[in-house]
Amino acid sequence: MSYLALRCTSTNFSPKSGAGISTSAGIPDFRSPETGLYANLARLNLPHAEAVFDISFFRQNPFPFYTLANELYPGKYRPTITHSFIYLLHKKSFLLKHFTQNIDCLDREAGVPDDMIIEAHGSFAKQGCIDCQAPYPDDLMHQAIEHKDPPHCQKCDGLVKPAIVFFGEALPAAFHANRDLPRQADLCIVIGTSLTVQPFASLPSFVPEEVPRVLINLEQVGGLGSRPDDVLLLGDCDGQVKKLAEACGWLEELEELWRKTAPREVKELGKEKKVQTKEESMEEEIEKLTREVGTSLNLAKEHDVATRKELEKEAGRHLGGETEKAVSTDGPAQSGISEKGLSMKSEDDDLEHVFPHLKSNLS
Ligand SMILES: [Zn+2]
Repeated sequence: MSYLALRCTSTNFSPKSGAGISTSAGIPDFRSPETGLYANLARLNLPHAEAVFDISFFRQNPFPFYTLANELYPGKYRPTITHSFIYLLHKKSFLLKHFTQNIDCLDREAGVPDDMIIEAHGSFAKQGCIDCQAPYPDDLMHQAIEHKDPPHCQKCDGLVKPAIVFFGEALPAAFHANRDLPRQADLCIVIGTSLTVQPFASLPSFVPEEVPRVLINLEQVGGLGSRPDDVLLLGDCDGQVKKLAEACGWLEELEELWRKTAPREVKELGKEKKVQTKEESMEEEIEKLTREVGTSLNLAKEHDVATRKELEKEAGRHLGGETEKAVSTDGPAQSGISEKGLSMKSEDDDLEHVFPHLKSNLS
């Protein structure tokens, strides 16, 4: 890896089945019965699991989202060594821009500054009114999430939500404004991805032919490996990143940076979390609910399709001819905007487009 060049773009795409850079941070799969979270969501009368990220459902009932947000809010999880590696690239002035589909803010917590990050699907870093778009203060948001209590706009009383891209919403303007940056990179590093969600997945194709691209992932994906200068580092992200850092003579520095991401607060929050899950007097009930939800999720498929069609119409009206804008509204892979509007992917629908690390493992 001696050619690590002056400026690089790191693109942290959506991880596939645990290969991503945040799964090793312990961020839970909310569908996993073990976390109890799914069962907790079930109590909140969701028509189907994905509704928690439907903007139209959110308008009617924001409580399920705030329940989930309480679990996932930044501060509860520690960045991984891979997040620290991205910060290290910045610290060494190698980073041109960091594109991510993750909304967990772990790159920020590792030290990567705001202006170096493009969060293609938004994140918890900012929040605002869904009607008048007025920003909402961080400290009040923090309290709202802590109490799972959806806050209202101070100007128009509309609902406030974190700037996470929901089904039916456009990608952030910052993504479109920066999506050509890979053309300027001297090196492109792609970490933890299934490389399926457009338009994000096409970023590496913008990298000029003669510029090396490095894929750090559990498996080969997309067109990575098709060019003579592509480098594939296959395996778990953290392990491969360490190897890369070692080859650059940076391992010690990287590990030192990562050590600093384990502040006391993280440990205390960990404790807090244990107290939370102590509602385990309800364990039996949760188990039962989880089984029921498994069944009702199947039943909800039909409803799901109907809801999506509705959204499709709505989004189609909303977007008119602008095709790229709405790509986030559909599921991963092949979907995109057809001439008729959005093409929604109904099979294997999961939240990969928003919560890449929350890949469904429901069986
Ligand atoms: Zn407002």
